Amino acid sequence: MVGDLHPDPVPRPRRVEKLDACPLCGSRWLLVAPVQPEPPFGLSQCSACGIIFLSPRPPLDAMKTYYDAMYDREDHPHPRQQQRALRHLRRLSRYAPTPGRLLDVGAGDGYFLNAARTAGWQVEGLELAEPRVARARTWFNLSLRSCDILAAPFPPATFDAVTMLQLLEHLHDPRAVLARVHELLRPGGIMLLSTPNVLAYARKHRDVNSWRIHLVARKK
Ligand SMILES: [Zn+2]
Repeated sequence: MVGDLHPDPVPRPRRVEKLDACPLCGSRWLLVAPVQPEPPFGLSQCSACGIIFLSPRPPLDAMKTYYDAMYDREDHPHPRQQQRALRHLRRLSRYAPTPGRLLDVGAGDGYFLNAARTAGWQVEGLELAEPRVARARTWFNLSLRSCDILAAPFPPATFDAVTMLQLLEHLHDPRAVLARVHELLRPGGIMLLSTPNVLAYARKHRDVNSWRIHLVARKK
């Protein structure tokens, strides 16, 4: 149920759209996923490639309004989020020990970028939800761009690292975003992402560390 997937109640969108094909591979053979959020949302699983995706979901043109409402809540930085940001940073440092230029896509309230900047990274962040852009400025003096990565004005091979923490599962076109990340990384650059582990939710694992999957890839 949605209480497992999101600790806070999720606002209801005005409109939803249902996908009739997998957003990753295009297959039309879709299954009902092993966990389900509350209506009007649902989770489908592609029987060809295995990806689990939200459908019905808010349409793309409603996402920004939806996120503005969803993330208009916090009023002070949360120590647990700061500790989580440091864990992500340690994970990144294992693969990219020398700080360089870093892009965080879906930078949220700026916890991770703040930690990365303190560690010596030159940081850029993209975040669509205006309340979070404002919080990142107030809390951490970070200037996030309220801009989609596909439209962001960065030249190819700009970054030594691109991070997407709990972002991939929010994307309407994850394939296009991954291709753009590849383009923005310099050769040898690192992509770090985390995303929910739906099977851990389905089995209700007690170890919350198993509820996220972390992936690291290096551009050749
Ligand atoms: Zn698929």
